Amino acid sequence: MNQRQTANTPRPTPFLQIDRLRKKFGDFVALDNVSLDVFEGEFVCFLGPSGCGKTTFLRAIAGLDIQTAGTVHQAGKDISALPPSERDFGIVFQSYALFPNLTVAKNIAFGLENQKLSKPDISKRVTELLELVNLPDQGAKYPAQLSGGEQQRVALTRALATSPGLLLLDEPLSALDAKVRTHLRHEMKALQRRLGVTTIMVTHDQEEALTLADRIVVMNHGVIEQVGTPTEIYRQPGTLFVADFIGAMNQVAGRVASSDCVAVGEITLATRPHNLYLDEPVVVTIRPEDIVPHGAGARSPGVPDSGDHAENTLAAVVEDMEFLGSFWRVSLKNNALGNAALTADMSINAVRRMTIAIGEPFTVELPAERLVVFPRNDDNV
Ligand code: ATP
Repeated sequence: MNQRQTANTPRPTPFLQIDRLRKKFGDFVALDNVSLDVFEGEFVCFLGPSGCGKTTFLRAIAGLDIQTAGTVHQAGKDISALPPSERDFGIVFQSYALFPNLTVAKNIAFGLENQKLSKPDISKRVTELLELVNLPDQGAKYPAQLSGGEQQRVALTRALATSPGLLLLDEPLSALDAKVRTHLRHEMKALQRRLGVTTIMVTHDQEEALTLADRIVVMNHGVIEQVGTPTEIYRQPGTLFVADFIGAMNQVAGRVASSDCVAVGEITLATRPHNLYLDEPVVVTIRPEDIVPHGAGARSPGVPDSGDHAENTLAAVVEDMEFLGSFWRVSLKNNALGNAALTADMSINAVRRMTIAIGEPFTVELPAERLVVFPRNDDNV
């Protein structure tokens, strides 16, 4: 569901309707019947590993690579067979793709000149746009005289110059260094909100997708694995692939013992309810930050009893500790878990309060509501 909707508001008509899009390169299927609705004003990120089909999907929406089958409707119009020049979008690529022999102002004016606007109108619009992206005095410069971040802002401005209905961004930040990338990410999001332009961005950077997107489309091997808000994708991954791809995730192999229990090594863990078959091979997952530290040896004083989840309390041994600035990443081993290693993220305060040292025993709880179970196949644990 669109983030801006509530349960009682009627579902709006999608601005972009993609229906069973398929793209083959020879015998290779790069996109396999993908369908997606994008709503007006949304910021959607296509996220996935290299080669999963993100760029192919974006290029099909732009008409740069026409699909083998399927349809694309934009603002109610079937654009499936239209060339890019007859579609309503602006696009920014990873390589800034500015014209090196034209000034910044001329680069931005390019699309406007094609729209046959008068010279004073073009000049006014270019000035407005340069102010919008905080480059008010850079119009007379050539692209080579700008930093990478500034060039990408110009590319963004050029893409927005004609006020397109759709903004397409193909890894626009990945050529920039980390600091510029983070800064520009915020600027881009603010600009997108201000203009309200429907935006689709391709990225393989999960942090970028989690911070920018209203909804994330997670892709793998040419199919959509899951569509959801950043919180849904992180907190309720629909598949083991999504669970593993987004954020850090502990994975322990086991077998289904009941509808909310999994046998792992010598113990049985209470888990979130699932619909898997008795004795089915599964993977139990938990995020490192969801492991609750109870302290050295037995449960520490002051830590409330975990009640229903006491069966998920494990006496582990600290194998390693890594200081990551705002928290500690602690590697734990527990023989009863079939020797599976667990990684727990603990706050600086928790580590300060508890006696914790490499080689020493340490008790942790794996809260049942945080243990999500997925079917196990040959590709995973
Ligand atoms: P990356 O993050 O590495 O850019 P991606 O998810 O954007 O990856 P695509 O560029 O969409 O992936 O490519 C998907 C698959 O299609 C890849 O296996 C790629 O090799 C293949 N592919 C893409 N374009 C072509 C082409 N023109 N001819 C043949 N195969 C192609």
